[in-house]
Amino acid sequence: MGRAFAYVILGGGVAAGYAALEFVRRRSDGAAGELCIISDETVAPYERPALSKGYLSPEGGARLPAFHTCAGANDQLLTNNWYREHGIELILGTKVISVDVRRKTLFTSAGETISYATLIVATGARALKLEEIGGNGSDAENVCYLRNLEDADKLIRVMRSCPGGDAVVIGGGYIGMECAAALVANNIKVTIVFPGKHCMENLFTPKIAEFYENYYASKGVTFIKGTVVSSLAISSGKVTTAILRDGRRLPADMVVVGIGARANTALFEGQLVMEKGGIKVSGQMRTSDASVYAVGDVAAFPVKLLGAEVRRLEHVDCARRTARHAVAAALDSSGATGDIDYLPFFYSRVFALSWKFYGDNTGKAVHFGDLDFSASSSSKPKFGALWVSAGRIAGAFLEGGSPEEYEAIAHAVRRGTAVPDVAVLARQGLAFIVQE
Ligand code: FAD
Ligand code: NDP
Repeated sequence: MGRAFAYVILGGGVAAGYAALEFVRRRSDGAAGELCIISDETVAPYERPALSKGYLSPEGGARLPAFHTCAGANDQLLTNNWYREHGIELILGTKVISVDVRRKTLFTSAGETISYATLIVATGARALKLEEIGGNGSDAENVCYLRNLEDADKLIRVMRSCPGGDAVVIGGGYIGMECAAALVANNIKVTIVFPGKHCMENLFTPKIAEFYENYYASKGVTFIKGTVVSSLAISSGKVTTAILRDGRRLPADMVVVGIGARANTALFEGQLVMEKGGIKVSGQMRTSDASVYAVGDVAAFPVKLLGAEVRRLEHVDCARRTARHAVAAALDSSGATGDIDYLPFFYSRVFALSWKFYGDNTGKAVHFGDLDFSASSSSKPKFGALWVSAGRIAGAFLEGGSPEEYEAIAHAVRRGTAVPDVAVLARQGLAFIVQE
């Protein structure tokens, strides 16, 4: 016994929400009963970035339904009612436990078989666990990860249980940096530990990282770099101490772990072609099986701007755009939908700071602006870097820009503005692009 749908979206995160809206817009003649979304989360798709920002604010900021998709793109808010009104079957709290791509069927934890004509895989990624890198303690009462609402609620509970206490944050990437800022706002003392030379090593230059590390230090955050937490000492189910590889012991009332993510590909191993840790897709987001598309964090797709190099980008803008593109391609019976032409875009907001990045951070980084942080620095610093590769702007990072400036750097990366003389760019900085 089972149900059948023309279109099934597997996963109910950011990409699923944007795909559903695109589906409804393209089937304005009505497509009730054609589309089903299956998610192991218990709520309709929401804007995951809110979890490390507004959701953690001490004032109890963003709460559902306010940040369901597609609020993050200032578009329609898709509540449960919206799905109902549009005849979209939302199957929540249900894990898909296996998939038979050849037979076009999914099997759920509820014992149901669901078949599809077209499948859109939007299973996202999961947080890497300490045990997977030789550590321990993931199940302790005061050890927190942050991927979904349940994790965010635990993080809030644990923060509130130790006001003024000590947190050890493991990892200096996106989760580590955003959670550290939220912990400080909640009056928790923070020490961040990571193996690299500086925070956000995959994106920030040493100079950019230095600014943020000094800014965080001015808020009382301590950085311990070049080493790792080798184990967590646990007593009565709670971590009490983080023990570092170099022998140091850090008291801990709580631990937040952000050591990277892994794409949720397991259901398709051996059935679809994989690349870059994700499911390989074409420029139309189609996988190696013509009836299956993959979008968002799980998809490895050719980025035209980078010479069609295959990339997997774990960022929200990518989830939104790849989802829309897959729906456009899947509903286009003429086959005329072209390849996605994606401009990589990442952003973050911490404390009173806010940055955006476009493109690729390859080549020579040319810095500009107020990069030297001191406690007396402007409360609205503006600085950044432009990456020059093969005589053209390949990537751009800007902290504290105006909407026009962000638009200008995005445009410069998109068209690959020529830089005949790097010295001129270094002298003019942002003006080189904004005046262009
Ligand atoms: P997800 O949003 O993760 O959705 C995947 C969905 O699939 C989930 O609902 C999951 O439960 C479900 N699922 C997985 N497997 C199954 C299964 N077998 N059965 C049923 N359901 C399943 N990016 C930015 O650019 N800027 C930010 O500021 C930013 N902040 C972030 C903050 C946090 C805390 C996190 C975790 C991520 C953040 N990101 C940010 C990244 C961004 O949220 C992701 O890139 C985006 O959510 C990816 O969308 P997705 O739909 O591919 O995956
Ligand atoms: P990241 O890949 O951003 O960062 C992982 C961090 O873990 C790095 O600092 C890395 O350090 C560190 N690390 C690796 N091994 C160890 C170790 N043994 N001990 C301590 N630290 C270690 O992953 P996150 O977990 O921060 O983020 C998870 C996902 O969430 C990603 O997909 C990310 O894109 C997404 N996200 C995006 C946001 C945004 O775009 N604003 C915000 C929040 C989450 P090193 O580099 O030195 O090796």
